[in-house]
Amino acid sequence: METILYLAHTEADGSLGKAALESLTAAAGLAAQCGGTLVAGLVGQDVQAAANQVAGAGFSKVLGVCGEAFAQARYSTDAAAAEALCQAADATIVVAAGDSRWSRVLPGVGQRLGGRADLHITQASGEGGVSVKRWFYRQRMEGSFSREQRPWLLGIDPGTQAAWQGDAGEAAVEAVSVDASGARTTVTGVKAPDTDEQTIRPDAAVLFVAGAGWTKKQADGQTHLPEAAGHILGFLKAAKASLGSSKSLVDLSSEGGEVLPFMTHLNQVGQTGATPRHAKGLSTCCHGEEPHVVGWRFINERRAVNLDANCGWAQGKADVLYVADAFEVMQKVNALLGE
Ligand SMILES: Cc1cc2nc3c(=O)[nH]c(=O)nc-3n(C[C@H](O)[C@H](O)[C@H](O)COP(=O)(O)OP(=O)(O)OC[C@H]3O[C@@H](n4cnc5c(N)ncnc54)[C@H](O)[C@@H]3O)c2cc1C
Repeated sequence: METILYLAHTEADGSLGKAALESLTAAAGLAAQCGGTLVAGLVGQDVQAAANQVAGAGFSKVLGVCGEAFAQARYSTDAAAAEALCQAADATIVVAAGDSRWSRVLPGVGQRLGGRADLHITQASGEGGVSVKRWFYRQRMEGSFSREQRPWLLGIDPGTQAAWQGDAGEAAVEAVSVDASGARTTVTGVKAPDTDEQTIRPDAAVLFVAGAGWTKKQADGQTHLPEAAGHILGFLKAAKASLGSSKSLVDLSSEGGEVLPFMTHLNQVGQTGATPRHAKGLSTCCHGEEPHVVGWRFINERRAVNLDANCGWAQGKADVLYVADAFEVMQKVNALLGE
């Protein structure tokens, strides 16, 4: 029988975040399907609040590695905590959120324990033995596979499961002690842009894609970069949307062209870019060619604004195509959003 360890770290406020709750959905579902034992392994400064938050998930026991050293992400302490929890639980399967903190340590922990680790898992199934699904070749092919090796550590891609919902309660946490005195790395802080400055927002309801058209000469024979930047940033701010780009637009900087300063290759959506998951998408000044639109496969409702009635979006790739000048459309949309 499998022993499934649900591995989670707390957030700064001591609770479990969305990605952790999503991976709990996967862990609990897997345990129910294969008739396995579900054990929680929590890591953080103090894990009692987190243990109480998920008390209704049906854990046979709740293990915790606690203390100042485990409050922040650090390879040595996170890996040591995960290793100790796997051993204390006698885990055969480990399910964790595929966030940056766990993705960094799971392969190393698998190596230490003589097991295997797989990241970017989108589904775990326990019927007829444990098997998982993940995408290959930038989400062009979905593969299903299983492994003999144990423990098998699984990093669940955030956004692929519904967040676990269940009753909170009073959980008894068994402390697992881990010696963190040998840690050589001191975490002095986190450097990240303010939330308002971040343009990539995976949890946003809307994806706003800007294409190279924003930088092209317009009807008056001139480019209008500052206005383009104003319309794009204005919409992102008002709609709390996430910003995507076509490859042509992010490649402009390396070609010496005029660029939008807030756009980087991380924004690129498509075959050689990202495949974000948002309920809706609005494409502007982007032609809608296949290598770009393939990155829209998880966007449910698609709209595009393009001057060209024969652009790629018109070829069955968008639900609605507005044949219009995006400068005018976005100015109007932003004005309406501002009211
Ligand atoms: C192997 C390979 C991988 C690739 N991977 C990717 C990828 O991951 N992502 C990606 O995006 N591309 C990718 N591409 C490139 C892709 O094929 C296209 O070249 C690219 O997406 C075009 O970008 P664009 O639509 O922004 O620019 P353009 O093709 O230059 O289109 C600009 C559009 O803006 C419109 N426009 C201009 N002014 C306005 C206005 N005022 N209002 C409204 N519309 C206006 C024009 O009508 C035009 O349709 C890849 C190509 C290859 C060969």
